[in-house]
Amino acid sequence: MAHPKENRILLKHADEDYFSTDIDCYLKYDGYEALKKALTMKPEDIRLQVKASGLRGRGGAGFPCGVKWHDLVDRKSGKPIYLICNADESEPGTFKDRQLIHKDPHQLIEGTIISSFANDVNLAFIYIREEMPLGAKILQKAVDEAHEKGFLGKNIQGSGYDLEIVVHRGAGAYICGEETGLIESLEGKRAYPRIKPPFFPAAKGVYQCPTVVNNVETLCNVVHIINMGGEEFAKIGRPNNTGTRIWCVSGMVQNPGYYEIEPMTMKELLYDVCGGPLPGRKLKAVVPGGGSMKILDTEETYKDRDGNEFSFDDIIVDYDGIMAAGSMSGSSGMMVMDDSIDILEALGNLLAFYAHESCGQCTPCREGSLWTKKITARMCTGGARDEDLDLLMDLAKNIGGRTVCPMGYSTTWPIESYVGKFREEMEAKVKSNSCGMTNFDERLIEK
Ligand code: SF4
Repeated sequence: MAHPKENRILLKHADEDYFSTDIDCYLKYDGYEALKKALTMKPEDIRLQVKASGLRGRGGAGFPCGVKWHDLVDRKSGKPIYLICNADESEPGTFKDRQLIHKDPHQLIEGTIISSFANDVNLAFIYIREEMPLGAKILQKAVDEAHEKGFLGKNIQGSGYDLEIVVHRGAGAYICGEETGLIESLEGKRAYPRIKPPFFPAAKGVYQCPTVVNNVETLCNVVHIINMGGEEFAKIGRPNNTGTRIWCVSGMVQNPGYYEIEPMTMKELLYDVCGGPLPGRKLKAVVPGGGSMKILDTEETYKDRDGNEFSFDDIIVDYDGIMAAGSMSGSSGMMVMDDSIDILEALGNLLAFYAHESCGQCTPCREGSLWTKKITARMCTGGARDEDLDLLMDLAKNIGGRTVCPMGYSTTWPIESYVGKFREEMEAKVKSNSCGMTNFDERLIEK
């Protein structure tokens, strides 16, 4: 059920007993009305509405959606334009797209159709990760139902517009969440990300044609932008952080879950909405935007660009608020740690994950991530060397920014921030050789 502090727009029906994933139910609650409205508009006007809404991508980078559509897609090449919905949600701590797909699939289908129409697309893909078999089944059923009702296929609703949507299941690799890795995978190749620049998918994407790639939550928002108009949408939230955002809060709070909110402070989200720490515990740190984002220390005093100081509690939970605290909102997967958590073990587990998921294309990431995993594993199991923390920081310097795709930073940002903020705790553990393997996954240790 929704918390009173939420503003549920995308999740409005999601957890209600009256609602189901059937198209008839979706139609009963004004489903596909936005599409009917969009089909009476010019594609360019839809793009301008999305631009006016200020909608930023919900997948990770936060790039303005309307700018990508209106200004970057290459419409002069004469090649077909494709749209890909990135449903390869794989960042540790992130589970919002899964909810949207499982609970309101037609909202995503409707958003995908409107976005395709706005971008002159006649073939769209929903790339969904292998680990979401139920989601793929639900989406395929939704696509079939939309076909039967004339919302997909030839001459949609008598408009003359044609569109097919293909639900494509990935094979299950973290790197397919990176848009060019996803495109390679969709083309049937190994998911090696492409070097950007010079070419971004908006100019050369799938089959070397202009391609719009958007996240599930981003595309769902398009339905509501069309319903209410771009300017009205822009009034929700705050400037440059418009609309609501679904935050996935996991870890040591009393009420973990997914919450669709407008910008609010950390204190409001973690205490008022999520119920605060577990009894007898104190919050220690938060990873605000999925595993690869920099960790925030709850005791730290932060400074914005103008030098104004603010506490962890006062951090505003949105793109700019978290950026001001030195991290990023990323995929909005918020992992909360309390004083029972061993920071070194948390880092070790995370680095083992990224080492496992490195696609292996470039040396700094392939070799470096494995090395960071080995170092943290020995630190966690009582075999640390005095120089290990410095070695980790040195490795981080030599991986970040020297790789083909941004995944290099998935390894280095956690190292730099965990060691940077909790070095004393780590040193004490290492010196006493007292890391007790309480939570560290032994299977991840390289023998
Ligand atoms: Fe692959 Fe890592 Fe290089 Fe990205 S940074 S291309 S994941 S090896």
